[in-house]
Amino acid sequence: MPGQVVTEGIPNVCGGQATKGIPTVRVGGAPIMVSGSPVTPHRPPIIKPLCLTGAAVTVARSNSTVRAGGLPIVVSTDADSCGHSRGTGNPTVRIG
Ligand SMILES: [Zn+2]
Repeated sequence: MPGQVVTEGIPNVCGGQATKGIPTVRVGGAPIMVSGSPVTPHRPPIIKPLCLTGAAVTVARSNSTVRAGGLPIVVSTDADSCGHSRGTGNPTVRIG
């Protein structure tokens, strides 16, 4: 699904930031995020223990056909493995 490219530090809809992007591929100076990138702990309105620790939450598989480091690039319409939407990305670069 089309969307804005997600880079390191951009939060999901509940504040969980995408981390450990591809350092050699940057948008707006920040590493680009790919499927499987870790997400920081976050606190949704309806508590999910998985989100509070962030230990096992990753940016879920993206359907993007555009890749970085061999993995699909994450866009704003993708969701994390906990189910929370990414929501926003860098507005200057869109895929799809
Ligand atoms: Zn979550």
